[in-house]
Amino acid sequence: MFDPKCLFCRIVRREIPAMILHEDEGLVAFRDINPQAPTHLLVIPRQHIASLNDLLPEHRDVVGDMHLLARELARAERIADEGWRVVMNCGPAAGQTVFHIHLHLLGGRDMGWPPG
Ligand code: 5GP
Ligand code: ZN
Repeated sequence: MFDPKCLFCRIVRREIPAMILHEDEGLVAFRDINPQAPTHLLVIPRQHIASLNDLLPEHRDVVGDMHLLARELARAERIADEGWRVVMNCGPAAGQTVFHIHLHLLGGRDMGWPPG
């Protein structure tokens, strides 16, 4: 549930500062420290789930709620209409560096496809 060595667990517990935009009983959203777009937010569950490889049926509501919150945050950031992107990297080859699942919400610029 909580991994003391996990960076994002420590942000959830406010042991490490972050620009937090939203908190509720299940989720926390904050600005990425190294933004790759004018809007680059991270939406994470409070509970420690290392990666999408560890996702279980009991996490169904968690990942659903992460996307519903992303929708609200995109509206609040005023990028809902122009378009925005959700990215969840899973594993080293995909570029996952923090092993606590997180949804990247990116927007405010045109996005290339395919992603790198
Ligand atoms: P990943 O590479 O695992 O998909 O994404 C991890 C993200 O976390 C990266 O975009 C990185 O910039 C961000 N990040 C790493 N350390 C911190 C931190 O201490 N605070 C914040 N706000 N973001 C971080
Ligand atoms: Zn964690």
